[in-house]
Amino acid sequence: MQFSELGLSEKVLRAVEASGYTAPTPIQAQAIPFALTGRDVLGIAQTGTGKTAAFTLPMLSRLEQGRARARVPRTLILEPTRELAAQVEEAFNKYGAQHKLNVALLIGGVSFGDQETKIMRGADVLIATPGRLLDFFERGKLLLSGIEILVIDEADRMLDMGFIPDIEKICKLVPFTRQTLFFSATMPPEITRLTEQFLHNPARVEV
Ligand code: AMP
Repeated sequence: MQFSELGLSEKVLRAVEASGYTAPTPIQAQAIPFALTGRDVLGIAQTGTGKTAAFTLPMLSRLEQGRARARVPRTLILEPTRELAAQVEEAFNKYGAQHKLNVALLIGGVSFGDQETKIMRGADVLIATPGRLLDFFERGKLLLSGIEILVIDEADRMLDMGFIPDIEKICKLVPFTRQTLFFSATMPPEITRLTEQFLHNPARVEV
């Protein structure tokens, strides 16, 4: 399998080539074609399998159409920790270097002011930890009505950290018609329940 067979845009293919990747990893080969059609994806994969690119690359392809408006982010990626959120931001900077997208990070321990400025400017991609995201939302600093793609990453770690009630709240605040890309290394019953409640006819991919 080649990256060029997955349906990614030319710009994204150039970024992949610049990264020196020769072939997609199994999770990328399976998840990217579904993600590009707009279908929900349930990906069961550990860190280290290339799962970050499995959602970042199709998101970049799909974001080439349209532009974000002030306070209304277009896509939202939820991560359980600040470190993981920062790694995803790095991935967008690396693969999306030619895309000129606004990427904003909403994590604890960083001043509200700088984060608010980025959201005011219009975020194409908002990467957040659940608590800080809800904090911003409840203060009226951002709207979730424009979310086209929602990514829930490391769902089983979210469970371990007690974030499931926050995730449920966020899933109810984003439009019903969004696409959801959902990743977990394991599928305990609480996570299966969450996917049954919030994913719509997902393509299940497992590596
Ligand atoms: P992740 O599972 O997303 O944390 O990715 C693990 C590592 O694999 C990262 O350092 C990526 O840069 C690298 N990687 C992702 N996709 C590929 C690929 N198709 N070929 C080679 N390395 C990759």
